[in-house]
This record gives sequence, structure tokens and C-alpha cells, in this order.
Amino acid sequence: MFVRAYGALASDKPLESLQIQRRETGAHDVQIDIAFCGVCHSDLHQVRSEWAGTQFPCVPGHEIVGRVTSVGAHVTGFALGDLVGVGCIVDSCKHCEDCQEGLENYCDGMVGTYNFPTADEPGWTLGGYSQKIVVHERYVLRIKHPEDQLAAVAPLLCAGITTYSPLRHWNVGPGKKVGVVGIGGLGHMGIKLAHAMGAHVVAFTTSESKREAARQLGADEVVVSRNEQELAQHGKSFDFILNTVAAPHDLDALLLLLKRDGTMALVGAPASPHPSPNVFNFIMKRRSLAGSMIGGIPETQEMLDFCAEHGIVADIELIRANEINDAYERMLKGDVKYRFVIDNASLQ
Ligand code: NAP
Ligand code: ZN
Repeated sequence: MFVRAYGALASDKPLESLQIQRRETGAHDVQIDIAFCGVCHSDLHQVRSEWAGTQFPCVPGHEIVGRVTSVGAHVTGFALGDLVGVGCIVDSCKHCEDCQEGLENYCDGMVGTYNFPTADEPGWTLGGYSQKIVVHERYVLRIKHPEDQLAAVAPLLCAGITTYSPLRHWNVGPGKKVGVVGIGGLGHMGIKLAHAMGAHVVAFTTSESKREAARQLGADEVVVSRNEQELAQHGKSFDFILNTVAAPHDLDALLLLLKRDGTMALVGAPASPHPSPNVFNFIMKRRSLAGSMIGGIPETQEMLDFCAEHGIVADIELIRANEINDAYERMLKGDVKYRFVIDNASLQ
């Protein structure tokens, strides 16, 4: 089956309208008509070859929501017309310890939604900037939000789970002081989720213009991180810091804000390394620096259900597919509150 898509033919070329092929719906597959797809900073890193190994044509997009249009003979969990989502994972080995624990995100055989090897044409996966996708039912999520919120649900499939998973892993909740660094697509979800989990949330931004907006997202306090005095007021006080920044920056200034035994988890994945942090900042207060990658399928469902229960969606700006190149430039400038979402009907 051929469908319309938006993607790039080379790392220095803008994204353009393309035709791509989707496999026939297999026995365990769900075919989805994609209604909306969120625009993650990872899409930009990948399509511009800022990370290694981009295959072209590259069709990004891993914040996918839509409706089921066909199911394979052995599919039990989904039916025609269901509202569903697909995030960053479309396959994994299904047998290793990670898969058995529902942590497919850490499986060595994980197949990402775009730019990962597959038997399908053209040999690597093609993502959600497209009209349809066919996915094994294990990697399809159920959406319980009202349908009129569907576009704003899309970013939960990556930005939502990538922030929810570390917040849960490091036991964020009442009585905990939590920092969220960078108020972009991931960071704004991190603020909403940490607030809903009952923590005291401090947002860190480089953008003075986001100071008031961050409070509306649920931040109890906002720090403009370029201001050293503002930073110093929070010295040695955080249980946990979630760092979503998409560019190399000084980690020491943030590590010093952790109290004894505090952890900073990096989820931002810049193209070049951060300056190396000072070892004494770990030793002196037994602090930890960690990382976290998206989340497994069961936890992604848990996050979607948590968000449906708490009325949480992303704050989005809806765009047509042919506006994606401008949207990337604006995302690089931090000029979006807080996630672009493509209306896939514009791919016609
Ligand atoms: P985004 O919307 O562009 O947000 C990143 C934010 O970082 C910006 O809004 C800005 O916030 C801040 N920032 C940017 N440049 C900065 C700089 N030089 N110094 C300090 N702050 C800066 O990006 P996103 O979609 O949230 O993604 C963030 C990062 O996470 C990307 O690298 C992406 O690839 C990665 N990611 C990782 C995973 C994972 O599994 N670990 C999953 C998805 C995405 P302020 O304006 O508030 O300062
Ligand atoms: Zn993403």
C-alpha cells in the first residue's frame, strides 16, 4: 500500500512531500489512519544527521495518534475504529529480560518508529509524518481521552512517557522537591506530570518570556537559569532534577543544586557532549548523574491512563505538513509553546 508522507532525501535538504510504502496488515498487526503526529526535537536531530546513522529518505515522527482501519486475524486487543497511539517503539525481540519486564525501550533489539532496520520497504522504519502506519499490536496504545483532545494527546507518546518514566523511577511525589530543566516539548510535560504527582516543582528556563507561562503549567517556582543569583538560592535543595535540554551546557551548575543523595537524570540528547562535570560535585554529597530513555509499553499505557484521569494533555500549536521546515527553525529558537503537532489530513 502506498501512502503520502513528509520526509527528507538528504540531511541538508528540507523535508518534502513523498510517497512511501506500508506493509500489508499481518496476522498480529494493526493498521492505523494517522490523524496527528507530534514534532519531537529528536526528529530534527535525526533528519539533519546530528546523530549517527540516518538513512534517507528519512520520514520522522514518533508521537502518533489515529484510528484503527484494519486488524490482522490474530489481533485481540484492538478493533476497527478504536482511538490508538504509537510512540517511539514499533518492535523488539519480545524474549529478553527487558522485553519480559515490559521495558522494551531497553531491549537491544528495539526497533524505533523511524530509522531502524526492518524487513519492510525500504529497509528501515518510516515514521508518523505519513497517512498510515502498520504496527504489531504489542506496540499499540489505547487512548481514553475525549476525541476532541486527540491532537494534544499525540505528544504524550514521546514527550509524555520520556518524562513520566524517570519521574516514577526516582519516586517523585508529595514531599519531594523536583527541578525540570528546559521548558520545551519534554520539559512542559515534565512540569505538568511532576505537579500532578504532588511534588514541589521548580522549572528552569533560559527564556525570560517563559517565566509566567511555566507557572500556568504547574511550576511552583521558576528560575531563569542564566541568572546565577536565582540559581544559588536553590543550592543543595533538590531531591531530583529532570534535565531535558537539547544542547550541551554546564551540568555542574545544576548538580550543585542537588541535596545529599540527589539525582539528576538526563533525557536531553544533544548532538555533541556536555562539558565534563567536576567529580567533587558527586563525591561531596553522594550525588548521582543518570539517564533515561523513553519508557516501556506497559508504562506508556499507564502514563496515558494517568493523563486521561488527570485531564493532562500537551500545549500544542497545530501545523500543516508543509509548515514543518519553519517549525523546525522555530523549535531551535525555543519559539513554540510547547509542541508542534502536524495535522496529517494536510498530507492529502
Ligand atoms: P525542545 O522542545 O526543543 O526543548 C528543549 C528545551 O531546552 C528548549 O525549549 C529550551 O528551553 C532548552 N534549551 C535549548 N537550548 C538550550 C541551551 N543551549 N541551553 C540551555 N537550554 C536550552 O526539545 P524536546 O523535544 O523537548 O527534546 C529535548 C531533548 O530530549 C532533545 O535532545 C531530544 O532529542 C531529547 N529526547 C530524548 C528522549 C529520551 O528518550 N531520552 C526522548 C525524546 C527526546 P528553555 O527555553 O526553557 O530554556
Ligand atoms: Zn521524541
